[in-house]
Amino acid sequence: MRETLLGMTLAELTQVALSVGLQRYAARQIAQWLYVRRVHDIDEMTNLSKQAREQLKAAYVVGAEPPMYAMRSTDGTVKYLFGAGGANTVESVFIPDADRATLCVSSQVGCKMNCRFCMTGKQGFSADLTTNRILNQIFSLPEHDRLTNVVFMGMGEPMDNIDNVLKALEIITGDYGLGWSPKRITVSTVGIRKGLKRFLDESQCHLAVSMHSPMAAQRREWMPAERSYPIAELVEMLKGYDWSGQRRLSFEYIMFKDCNDSLTYAKEVTKLLRGLECRVNLIRFHALPPVDSTPSLRQAQDRLGSGTSSPPMDLRPTDMERMVWFRDYLTLHGVRATIRASRGEDILAACGMLSTDRERQQNEQKE
Ligand code: SAH
Repeated sequence: MRETLLGMTLAELTQVALSVGLQRYAARQIAQWLYVRRVHDIDEMTNLSKQAREQLKAAYVVGAEPPMYAMRSTDGTVKYLFGAGGANTVESVFIPDADRATLCVSSQVGCKMNCRFCMTGKQGFSADLTTNRILNQIFSLPEHDRLTNVVFMGMGEPMDNIDNVLKALEIITGDYGLGWSPKRITVSTVGIRKGLKRFLDESQCHLAVSMHSPMAAQRREWMPAERSYPIAELVEMLKGYDWSGQRRLSFEYIMFKDCNDSLTYAKEVTKLLRGLECRVNLIRFHALPPVDSTPSLRQAQDRLGSGTSSPPMDLRPTDMERMVWFRDYLTLHGVRATIRASRGEDILAACGMLSTDRERQQNEQKE
């Protein structure tokens, strides 16, 4: 198998250049072909000698791959399915808006976090995406030229694949790469400490933390990651960083009817976030479609629940009026809050609905 060049950092391309007898500076030329000119073939790199190109071709390919299929929502959102090595696939969502166009990218095939409300969690974990596979979602997007923002809010937990995510961020923001400002990129996480620390120290991109509940016991029930990474400790850690400049910190909060949407919770959120420069994004819960085929072990465990509390399948979305009150309460207490618009629900492309379970895909293709 030949290695892919797309997804290599300048340091890695330098090694490649030297290995085929090119000078160090040729790495920048290759990067230019890959990331600025976006060529699909080594033969197109015409300022490299023919001999160097032949040598490159013996061991490498560019490694760009178009999406396998697209599904269009009535609201203009498009969901793409990309190959992810072997039989694996991931989904990306293109979300055009009035003055921006955002791509929601995946960082893993499936996810280990097993959040109770998330469809990706239900499919379990298959693999980390390579840097090539992360970047390919951007590189091979048909609407590439219109993109203004990228959010790591697709499938997977970015901090659990931090090496590849950081490399992708380096290439997207690097002067040798896409040259984007880090302000155009947001990475979302449940808060895996080690990866998060590296992300904070080694990149300048915006951070979104999935909170969903300010109460440890409740968060633990919905998000098993709370056991190892309590939200209170994450907030303390985040207070050690500077959020007063260009870099933005936000917390995501899915609103579950009668579970985390009362005054008690609004008060706890303001208490928890006091003294931290940030904002809160209130997200409408996208109820997961019922599974009508053979359930997976994950689904069976989920239905059974842990035995001490109400079954997680009872989660329902809060109505909009209450979301507005919740937002206003937070804002009036100095915590800037917004309600995130929900997009692409009809094609299962909204937050937390991405999954590439084989059964579901087959159902989609039948429709
Ligand atoms: N693993 C990362 C990024 C992927 S999910 C994280 O958890 O932050 C992106 C966002 O969608 C997260 O805030 C996640 O909690 C939210 N989400 C998951 N399932 C959802 C659902 N069913 N409805 C609404 N939002 C959901």
